Amino acid sequence: MCKVDDLIAEYGLTAPGSDYDSVDDYLAKRWTGTDGRTSEGYKKLTDWFNKRVLKSIYEKYGRSTVSIHLDREYDVIVNEDNIQRAELAADLEGDGMDIDELKKTLVSHGTIRNHLKNCLEVEKDTQSTTNSTTTTREKAIASAKRMAASKTENILPELAKDGVVPFADQATVDVEIRLQCPKCDTRVPIEDAIKRGYVCNDHMTDPINTDPPNNSTPDPSENTESDENDSHHQSDTTMNSVPSSQTSLLLSLLALGATSFSSQSPMLIDSMLNTA
Ligand SMILES: [Zn+2]
Ligand SMILES: [Zn+2]
Repeated sequence: MCKVDDLIAEYGLTAPGSDYDSVDDYLAKRWTGTDGRTSEGYKKLTDWFNKRVLKSIYEKYGRSTVSIHLDREYDVIVNEDNIQRAELAADLEGDGMDIDELKKTLVSHGTIRNHLKNCLEVEKDTQSTTNSTTTTREKAIASAKRMAASKTENILPELAKDGVVPFADQATVDVEIRLQCPKCDTRVPIEDAIKRGYVCNDHMTDPINTDPPNNSTPDPSENTESDENDSHHQSDTTMNSVPSSQTSLLLSLLALGATSFSSQSPMLIDSMLNTA
């Protein structure tokens, strides 16, 4: 519960039109664009919400709520530098309202953002941006695996011929890329690390940011007012908690069908990684 919830309850704010179930439904759908219309940013939604509140207050005090006046007066109320402010203040006072109190009653962009993210737990669909990163990442992993498999396949006939691993040339190469914690034995397939958002829960999670990348992450600017556009909140979905230099790459190669790699295999993997 936040100030937005309190205001909705206090002024009995209801859904604008039959397309929405409630004010919250409107805010959520307008923010995400799931109602099929172009999604709106915090600023527009904040202004919309504040005008709804202002209209209710005006009605309570019997002041005209004609939208052309309301829009203009809202701008003057929230903008303390507006030269018409003193004039409007006097006029509002005539109707029993205090301009500074009105401003304090209204909410900021940050409050609307917190309401959407924390109270309503709405997440903006950032598929278009995350999809392309995901695809690039998947392609890179697949290509690394293909390369490792092909280089391994190249030496299998030799292993078979030399009798080091009988029938090695008939084995299928299965490549798994695992990430290992530099501090302990924890190893995890890279796909799983991406999915869960960390390599090692003990040594490789950011103390501030332990959420998997696709879940909502705490936003350091969550409580500030400086939210003019929300685009910068959408890009930050990569595995930023793990500096790549700390992540040791471990290629685990399983030659299926062959009983085991010989003692040559560590060297083989080394040379493969070096030439990759
Ligand atoms: Zn709320
Ligand atoms: Zn560890």
